[in-house]
Amino acid sequence: MTEPSSPPAAPAEIHFAISQKAAATLGSRLDGNGLKAQQVLLARHETLVHQIPGALTVRLKPEIAKSQLKGRHPQGQVLDSHAAVLARSAGEIAALLGGRDVQQEILQATGKMPGQGFGMEPLTLSLHAAKKEFSSIDKCLKCNGDAFLPCSQCNAAGKIPCKACNGQGFMPCQTCFGDGQVHQHDGSTAPCPQCQGTGKIQCLSCQGYKTMVCTACQGQCKISCTECGQSGFLTHLYQVTYKASLLFEADLRQIPPDVREIIGKLGVKQLATEGHAEIFRQPPEIREDHIYIPFTALLPVAQAEFSIEGKSCPATVAGLRGRILKIDPVLDALVKPGIKALQSLSRGPMASQNLIDTACKYRLIREALSGLTLRSKKNVYQKLVKDYPLILSAKYANATIHYANMAMQSIGAGPRNKGLLAGTVLATLPAAGYYLTPVRSRILDAMLQNNIGRHIVLLDIAVGLLGWAVAVVTIKFIAAQAFRKLLPDNIQTGKNNLATAGPQGLWALPASLAAGLLIAAFSAAKPEWMLLLLKTLGVQP
Ligand SMILES: [Zn+2]
Ligand SMILES: [Zn+2]
Ligand SMILES: [Zn+2]
Ligand SMILES: [Zn+2]
Repeated sequence: MTEPSSPPAAPAEIHFAISQKAAATLGSRLDGNGLKAQQVLLARHETLVHQIPGALTVRLKPEIAKSQLKGRHPQGQVLDSHAAVLARSAGEIAALLGGRDVQQEILQATGKMPGQGFGMEPLTLSLHAAKKEFSSIDKCLKCNGDAFLPCSQCNAAGKIPCKACNGQGFMPCQTCFGDGQVHQHDGSTAPCPQCQGTGKIQCLSCQGYKTMVCTACQGQCKISCTECGQSGFLTHLYQVTYKASLLFEADLRQIPPDVREIIGKLGVKQLATEGHAEIFRQPPEIREDHIYIPFTALLPVAQAEFSIEGKSCPATVAGLRGRILKIDPVLDALVKPGIKALQSLSRGPMASQNLIDTACKYRLIREALSGLTLRSKKNVYQKLVKDYPLILSAKYANATIHYANMAMQSIGAGPRNKGLLAGTVLATLPAAGYYLTPVRSRILDAMLQNNIGRHIVLLDIAVGLLGWAVAVVTIKFIAAQAFRKLLPDNIQTGKNNLATAGPQGLWALPASLAAGLLIAAFSAAKPEWMLLLLKTLGVQP
């Protein structure tokens, strides 16, 4: 972590060297594009170093995780209520902000960032140094603190009516089925000896007491409250953690509009992340509910005048890296003869070595040409614009790519056509090796034995496509050879010394397939489909 520091009374010397840096960059971009780097000089510059104030505001927000325990289990600070916990959690913020640990943690986190957090995106940090624990103990609402509830089964009487006798105390006699009389052998009746003629006997379950002890409460009339674990109390636990939200804001109100525009182009965040500005972080100020960390960024901006081949060229340069933000497209005029040569080449058909030499004098044209042998036009255009920012106009970048592409096609047309011819001839080789030798018959025999004879047609197709591949590689190879002869050494034609095949690569498909068919037609053991084809055409084999 860098210690806080205030900006010096006078900016360091590096701020005034940005135009020199920009001149060197400009020189390296123009070098080889009709100029030498030494021809670019810094004529004069006027550099102002602007102070850009900004501040990081850090606020804490409590996050409360709540849980509940049965009984009394005080933990941390014990407070009266949830509301009291909320109030206390918020009330702790000032103390936490003032604490060394929290400040250290925040400054350490931002200290690792470019510019120690200048221009940073809004961020939320979970603070390890800020944790609080509270609890509040309440009477159980269900039992009102009694730990017990009245038994609902017996309405707190402890007894319930006997179920066996419905609370009567007696039940019908089993011997006389409640008649009180029993039948004798002789047909007469006599009083039941079991119930003495009453028809009723004492209830066996309640022994005549009519009630039984309530099983729910065991006659205690109350049951334990499960809500509070039979304690009458509940403990609410509050684990409070704090999150710090960091918000950076630059204060551009005092910045002149033209400089504000420059900051907009470079980006406030990029002033730090890309090292355009020198950044000072001042000591944090602890305020009532937040920490305020002031910053000052020093951004040099120069109005420079470069001398290119003795011609004056004004430019705006900004930032410690000497980025040129405004300049005329000075490269346009320099490379114009090269683009004109490309334009003539594109009208083809005969590639003139003279025109190629003129175009290839320019580094950016060589880069475009070599780019086009491997990549798409859009891709090469984007790279061109990125490599030569501002100094090459979009119009000239477009023209370079357009004519370079046409010139390559025109230069490549002859060799590619030659390649197509040679490739078509070479494309017969796989077919000849396959149809004119016993290779195909042997493979077919083996396949027939395995009952997969029909699939030989897939192999026939594969041989046809192999012929196409041979033709395409031949075109690429011959085109690359021609490019290498015509174009300077430093226009590479790819890792394998191959150039793109152009439209001839597609034409090679029907050409190589036709060549393959011809071979198949003349083979001794003609494939079935060939026999069928010949028959359809009315040519009897
Ligand atoms: Zn309870
Ligand atoms: Zn009960
Ligand atoms: Zn009886
Ligand atoms: Zn009973």
